[in-house]
Amino acid sequence: MKTGFIGLGIMGSRMATNLIKADYTVNLYNRTKSKAEKISSKRGIVKDSPAEVAYDSDVIFTMLSTPEAVQEVVLAEEGLMAGMSKGKVWIDCSTVNPSFTKQMADLTAELGFNFLDAPVAGSLVPAEKGELVFLVGGKKTIVKYCAPLFKIMGSRFVHAGDAGMGSSLKLVNNLVMGLSFYAFTEGLLLGESLGISQQQIFDLMDGSPVAAQMINLKRQKMEQSSYEPEFPLQWLQKDLHLATQTAYEQGISLPGTNTVKEIFALAKQAGLAEKDFSVIYDFLGKMKK
Ligand code: NAP
Repeated sequence: MKTGFIGLGIMGSRMATNLIKADYTVNLYNRTKSKAEKISSKRGIVKDSPAEVAYDSDVIFTMLSTPEAVQEVVLAEEGLMAGMSKGKVWIDCSTVNPSFTKQMADLTAELGFNFLDAPVAGSLVPAEKGELVFLVGGKKTIVKYCAPLFKIMGSRFVHAGDAGMGSSLKLVNNLVMGLSFYAFTEGLLLGESLGISQQQIFDLMDGSPVAAQMINLKRQKMEQSSYEPEFPLQWLQKDLHLATQTAYEQGISLPGTNTVKEIFALAKQAGLAEKDFSVIYDFLGKMKK
């Protein structure tokens, strides 16, 4: 089986590297070509367009920032669709909204190709270690066919249902993550204002049922005020936006998510888009002073 990988940013570069290490041939494409060249090797072959990747591969992964980026890569003249043919599989790992995913699934079905949505839970380090969790939507037979690839890049995959259900589960996951991390940040700031040390609060939360594991994962960044991106703030804000957009489509209200999304939007506007999202702690801390 020949594979293709389009979108070699923080996540995609590491996922594609794991496929190459597992001896798969991986056709590589990234808009900024230097990122593809950085991981090229005998089995990691750099191509000039998404169409070329699709033409030479049986299963093609995309790992792109937003629904707009996916649409551009897929539908452009030299885009992914231009290189697809019957029997090939496109797996979109980008975090996008379920209604967009369903549109892409319908389009691929009309054209006679196979499609899975398979966004991931886990960030830079799990991507590097091959320990992501894939949240997969699509036909069971195609999921089974692609399972060996998920097992290389991930520790687990969940077949959530038909196309769109992987994206649905992913938005739920990131809504909970974003809001719980934000709640921790406010708790930390209140505690500090009362004279409790950062360390005491982190230690109290460590292993406590009220805390999310994410807090420990971000502890070092917050203690050192050093926010090299693992999960860029702009993409968490995008995920919260997609959750609220989806809630609108579903006719339900998510007041908390809308509020937290706007606070992340303020941080983005203040120039923090490309920092790790845990920088929200410094951003709010500065506003307090
Ligand atoms: P990233 O490092 O910013 O990479 C984004 C990728 O999208 C790059 O390859 C970029 O190309 C490409 N791209 C953006 N706009 C494009 C366009 N118009 N045309 C072609 N390519 C375009 O982001 P990431 O952290 O790897 O995240 C990728 C996806 O995974 C996002 O949907 C994110 O929400 C999701 N995700 C991220 C994490 C995480 O912890 N980082 C975890 C789970 C899921 P260039 O290099 O040319 O800019």
